[in-house]
Amino acid sequence: MTTVKSNGELLLVSGEFVIPSPFKSPIRQGAVAIEGEKVLECGPMERLKAKYKAARIIKRPSGLIAPGLINCHTHAPMVLMRGMADDLPLKQWLEEHIFPAEARLSEELVRTATFLACAEMIRGGTTTFVDMYFFERQMAQVVDKCGMRAYLGEGIFDFPSPAFQNAGEVMEETRELVSLYRDHPRIHFTVDPHTPYTCSDSILQEAGDFAKENHLPLVIHLSETRQEFDETLSAHSRTPVRRLDDLGLLGPNLLAVHCVWLEDQDIERLAETGTSVVHCPESNLKLGSGISPVSRLIEAGVNVALGTDGAASNNNLDMLSEMDFAAKLPKGLSHDPSIVSAEQVLGMSTWNAAKALGAGDIGRLEQGFQADLTIINLDRPHLRPCYNPVSQMIYSASGPDVTDVMVAGRFIMENSKILTMDEKGLLEKIKSLENRPFWQE
Ligand SMILES: [Zn+2]
Repeated sequence: MTTVKSNGELLLVSGEFVIPSPFKSPIRQGAVAIEGEKVLECGPMERLKAKYKAARIIKRPSGLIAPGLINCHTHAPMVLMRGMADDLPLKQWLEEHIFPAEARLSEELVRTATFLACAEMIRGGTTTFVDMYFFERQMAQVVDKCGMRAYLGEGIFDFPSPAFQNAGEVMEETRELVSLYRDHPRIHFTVDPHTPYTCSDSILQEAGDFAKENHLPLVIHLSETRQEFDETLSAHSRTPVRRLDDLGLLGPNLLAVHCVWLEDQDIERLAETGTSVVHCPESNLKLGSGISPVSRLIEAGVNVALGTDGAASNNNLDMLSEMDFAAKLPKGLSHDPSIVSAEQVLGMSTWNAAKALGAGDIGRLEQGFQADLTIINLDRPHLRPCYNPVSQMIYSASGPDVTDVMVAGRFIMENSKILTMDEKGLLEKIKSLENRPFWQE
């Protein structure tokens, strides 16, 4: 395993604005002082320049420097299925298109796809992502090379997955990967039962117990569609949230992805147990699943993070676009433009996500936090004039406006060039796959 580290020198990264965290006001003509992998301080450029003897000063005079974005739910290799099957309901989309295609995935395809997903996420300012898929062992090697931070989980099902014969084998793999990556600075493993309806009670329980005993995040798709909600009610006489609650799975280490179909009591229990919800608005709309009651969840005190979901149901991994969407959707739904502010959405994509993962040192640019940052170039027609950088980031910017990305004190994209991979060669390889789609092999 390669461990990419910064060379430990003291850096100053300066910009027109620095947004230290969702809770602090942006700093005009600000800078971030960084030593090794960590932030020393965030403040006005002139003050930090006088205070620290920086070995290198990186100037971005039109740059908006923000904490690196955290995509709290995706299936990265699904970029290979982007546009493969659109405009279908979830069940038909999964059973007739996605599952048969996934059965043809190989380790090599997953590796190539992970490079593509990482390139897309880095270009969009994402520094950390949370992934549930297959062949996560192979993915971890690619993510490591790309220099990103990731929380990876091998999907657990009651039936064979493309990578394993049964849930027992996946649990074995998970145990091994957790121990192999225990001390890795950027790559972590999670425990990922796919959904309550693709896992038996005993598998859910085993996964939940293992995650709890080892202080690992537990990730599951939950209450995504009306069909799931209705079928769970008739099969188990309780809602999907209630079923997990009765199994003892709700809690601060659970990332409940989607949570579109919820009763009032479900929301209360998610709040009481400290469960985090991962909101994936674009995927929920594209699959016609519905709209998660995010403003009610926030009001009840639930920690809400944001994810793109896989590229086959989105169809991109652009967190800035997702943030725009996440801020506007609840306003339209409730006819109240004052709910879910730009600052709250910034929180969902940074600190709330870190909190969901139990990662106390990412999601903010403050002393002692990991130096994970993203820089947006404001000198573009759609980003001027800039009176409020948080507003600009949420409502006006999108992925291609990002020019620089740093993870753990090391630039992985600088001046719009990704430094950790051969992006041109990768795109050529991907283009060659278009002529003979892998699911038709
Ligand atoms: Zn998903």
